[in-house]
Amino acid sequence: MRLVFLGPPGSGKGSQAKFVVERYGVAHISTGDLLRNAVKAGTEIGRKASAIMQKGNLVPDELVTELIVQHLDAADIWSRFLLDGFPRSINQAEQLDATLDKRMSPLTMVVHLHVEHDALIKRLSGRRTCTNCGRIYNVYFEPPEVDGKCDDCEENGELMQRDDDNEKSIKNRLTVYDENTKPLLAYYEKSGLLRTVDGSGDLAGIAEQVDRVIQEH
Ligand code: ADP
Ligand code: ZN
Repeated sequence: MRLVFLGPPGSGKGSQAKFVVERYGVAHISTGDLLRNAVKAGTEIGRKASAIMQKGNLVPDELVTELIVQHLDAADIWSRFLLDGFPRSINQAEQLDATLDKRMSPLTMVVHLHVEHDALIKRLSGRRTCTNCGRIYNVYFEPPEVDGKCDDCEENGELMQRDDDNEKSIKNRLTVYDENTKPLLAYYEKSGLLRTVDGSGDLAGIAEQVDRVIQEH
């Protein structure tokens, strides 16, 4: 099973990916996470990406594609992966198709999580992540029991806000999504791979719908 999760920033791709990974044993690949790790580690890609990400713009296609291919190769997971945050432009989608064709492992399905922009802004500006376990909270809808602390990790679980989860970057990321990523919906619709799920309800309900779509295949 080779899946792509498509949807605007804050649509819940990462959260839903976790359920699918647990259930089906596919490998979760988030370009955002890979890039943030590269920034933290100070690699060449990380140095190039850091300022671009902070503004909420797209990191150049070649860099991201290289990162993905490296990762798929290193972990040898060409047969069972879930891509989260990639592709994000027609160019990236074409590069992905070409790469997968070469390995005779085409995509199984593209799951699109649909959420309106107003809801996304609240989700993103309220988002906090545990630096220890990665659990995601929201100060508006899903606050931790103690302010700034993870319920699961107690003293070493500080909650952090991502650099790009500020108002200006959030607005820019939504514009970038509309301009560069949204055209992928038509691209995958044409190849018959696209399945759209309403991503506006509660996590468990959305997970059920995602699962139904996967089971139908
Ligand atoms: P979100 O979807 O919430 O914006 P991500 O963690 O997926 O967050 O991505 C964070 C940032 O990383 C993006 O704003 C962009 O700068 C960069 N990035 C992630 N994936 C890609 C990609 N496929 N192509 C270009 N840039 C990317
Ligand atoms: Zn934690």
